[in-house]
Amino acid sequence: MRVHLTATAAAAVRRGHPWVYRDGIAGGGEGAERRGERRRGERAPRAGGGAAASGDVVELSAEGAPFLGRGLWDADSAIAVRVFQRAQAPALDERAIAERLERAFALRDRWFEGRDTTAYRLCNGEGDRVPSLVIDRYDRVAVVRLDGGMLAPWLDRLLPHLARALGARGVRSIGLRARGEAASGDAEGKKLAHLHGPPPPDRLFVRENGVAMEVDLARGQKTGAFLDQRDNRARVRALAAGRRRVLNLFSYAGGFSVAAALGGAGRVTSVDSAPAAHATAQRTFRENGVDPAAHEFVTADAFDFLEKARARGDRYDLIISDPPSFAPSERAKPRALGAYRRLHTAVARVLDRGGVLCAASCSSHITAEDFLATLDDATLERDDLRIRAIHGQPEDHPTLPAWWEGRYLKFVVLE
Ligand code: SAH
Repeated sequence: MRVHLTATAAAAVRRGHPWVYRDGIAGGGEGAERRGERRRGERAPRAGGGAAASGDVVELSAEGAPFLGRGLWDADSAIAVRVFQRAQAPALDERAIAERLERAFALRDRWFEGRDTTAYRLCNGEGDRVPSLVIDRYDRVAVVRLDGGMLAPWLDRLLPHLARALGARGVRSIGLRARGEAASGDAEGKKLAHLHGPPPPDRLFVRENGVAMEVDLARGQKTGAFLDQRDNRARVRALAAGRRRVLNLFSYAGGFSVAAALGGAGRVTSVDSAPAAHATAQRTFRENGVDPAAHEFVTADAFDFLEKARARGDRYDLIISDPPSFAPSERAKPRALGAYRRLHTAVARVLDRGGVLCAASCSSHITAEDFLATLDDATLERDDLRIRAIHGQPEDHPTLPAWWEGRYLKFVVLE
């Protein structure tokens, strides 16, 4: 199968961008065709009638470039091709993909050696040059997520490789979490589909930098936990020393909360709209020898909570705000920026003088500079704060220089 790209799409592929959108295909859209089967001007056949199906290997070309690389075709999503190879590699088959995976796993072996951490991202899809395939490790369980539809037909062939490579590293069960299947908040989520080994437990404890964390595999968000905040949780732990009152907004399973408590904070208030998340957080507190009764877990809308806290005159000397993505698409951006502004204004009103504010955003459509603008003096209604640090995602969530979409996490520390 051959896919001929527009000049713009070809340039992006050359820079290493792993996606070809449907409008990046020259001649507009139907795209992949079996070589030689179609004459000029003839209509491209639709899937099923000889056109490419999801998972088919396609060769990319452009004007003046007979071979740009190889990718996998996706018949349904806005991203028509995810690019796997740019050089004339021998073939794009399961062996080639398995080699990439082994490389990703070997890097994690090195990165996490001796760190008392049993939960991390084993493969970050595009960022590890295995587009579409995300694998998170929760101790003895690996959770696979496929973005788009092109790798689903490959899963059976990849599974023996995965089972072998992961088994050698102590992973016993492999589960599959379909995209968008994760329950949000307290809604019942679909169970993890079971792919290999003993059925994964509904929940289990993992370790992160020596801290125990309960992960809800059955109903949790993402693949179970927000592994991308690992380093930032460690930062919060260090920031919490000597703080009297800490506020963790959108606390989910309480990762930042327990970090603050272990770091020496007097009282940590966790706010989330999902009561199930607090139950998880409290078990995590206990597992770490912290009495949850010494802290506060509030089931509430964060905006309502802030309004009431302000009215009560409550003040905090460390606040963490890590909301769900406000901008799931480029179109949602203006509204999302407004929501971040409203949130940050409300947060700043309950932040003590001399306090620290950690504000996070996980929307790739909001750039760091855009996000910082939602923390400016006018928004915060104060002029005593400075940016102490801007952090992002950890090494197990790698990206590519050309793949800006992968750099979604901002974690800004203001003091
Ligand atoms: N900070 C967390 C991840 C946050 S995910 C961590 O590091 O693990 C976002 C969380 O916000 C979810 O748990 C969701 O239940 C909660 N949430 C979404 N909208 C909310 C709202 N308006 N008020 C309070 N919590 C909300």
